[in-house]
Amino acid sequence: MAETIFSKIIRKEIPANIVHEDEICLAFHDVAPQAPVHVLVIPKKPIVSLEQLEQEDAALLGHLWLTIQRVARELGVSEGGYRVVVNCGADGGQSVDHLHFHILGGRGLTWPPG
Ligand code: AMP
Repeated sequence: MAETIFSKIIRKEIPANIVHEDEICLAFHDVAPQAPVHVLVIPKKPIVSLEQLEQEDAALLGHLWLTIQRVARELGVSEGGYRVVVNCGADGGQSVDHLHFHILGGRGLTWPPG
């Protein structure tokens, strides 16, 4: 997998506002927030996108979802509600080729997205 800005964040070569870190994943505030709370949750394992997931990643995915729940609670958006977005590929609007989950909350979100 090609080097991305997120690999550099994982290796602490560039700064990020980290809200959670463990041996499997990292969560940090998006640099261009689209809502009062906008955090990205990424696996440390280099996976390009949802399309590259394999059966062996099932436990990793479970961990990511539980981390999303935990971070949402810690940032105070659980009660009001929040949205989790995974952009996949060019038409999906993915701009960084390292799998990431957006957590968006802190305001009423409209639907459908653009
Ligand atoms: P996507 O368009 O789904 O690939 O989302 C990539 C996200 O990464 C965008 O919301 C960007 O604002 C965010 N982003 C890019 N560079 C950084 C960075 N250095 N720190 C935090 N977020 C970033």
